[in-house]
Amino acid sequence: MPSPRTPVPDSADVLVRLRGVHKSFGDHVVLRDVDLDVRSGEVVVLLGASGSGKSTLCRCVNRLETIDSGEITIEGRALPSEGRELARLRADVGMVFQSFNLFGHRSVLDNITLAPVKVRGVARREAADRARELLTRVGLAHKAQAYPGELSGGQQQRVAIARALAMNPKLILFDEPTSALDPEMINEVLDVMTELAADGMTMLVVTHEMGFARRAADRVVFLDQGRILETGTPGSFFDAPRTDRARDFLSKIL
Ligand code: ADP
Ligand code: MG
Repeated sequence: MPSPRTPVPDSADVLVRLRGVHKSFGDHVVLRDVDLDVRSGEVVVLLGASGSGKSTLCRCVNRLETIDSGEITIEGRALPSEGRELARLRADVGMVFQSFNLFGHRSVLDNITLAPVKVRGVARREAADRARELLTRVGLAHKAQAYPGELSGGQQQRVAIARALAMNPKLILFDEPTSALDPEMINEVLDVMTELAADGMTMLVVTHEMGFARRAADRVVFLDQGRILETGTPGSFFDAPRTDRARDFLSKIL
């Protein structure tokens, strides 16, 4: 069983800060005046109906999308827009998607070592040692030489997590990491994520897995039509949602 976690104190440093963030696609407003702080070591679970803006919010944090107005900072610094600084941002902010996005023609080990060698300039040998360590951590030490196509979905997603960790990110964004998985594989991925949370990784997680949210989240943020409607501890949100929207959302997924 994953170990229990110690809640992150209110005094912990803010790692990611969003203030007054607006984002539209054409005349469709997707994020409205979003204020959010993610503190170092904190696990924030982002909930909301399909189309409420969860993926867009994540993508704005590592600048896969630009914002129209407002401000996003990481460790107090505005997000860079280009060049080396942007590459560093992407290295510092890991992302794990619903679709695992592994390179199919590369071995599991290569998938994990590629970015550290190319982007961080880590020596190949050192990157391979670290990749094996991470594979052990996600329970896949025996799959280092396998190709992604030879793995189950759950195993591929665990490789994707190891790949994100290989960059020593400050934060990992998870966008519905278990939504594409067969039910029997969901827990093996959630267990790895719960371990990461217990180890103090800062995580922003979009998921519909309420069991995970309850056990691993410091805070739950409920997004409705691009606006943050509620934010609270998992206990307060799940047991006593304050808005009709949140109650309605929970009644559909629980
Ligand atoms: P969620 O992840 O909560 O389901 P998204 O952030 O993916 O929501 O999408 C929010 C809204 O923005 C949706 O209405 C979606 O259709 C729209 N949207 C997302 N990405 C784009 C895009 N690249 N171009 C136009 N509309 C988009
Ligand atoms: Mg989404």
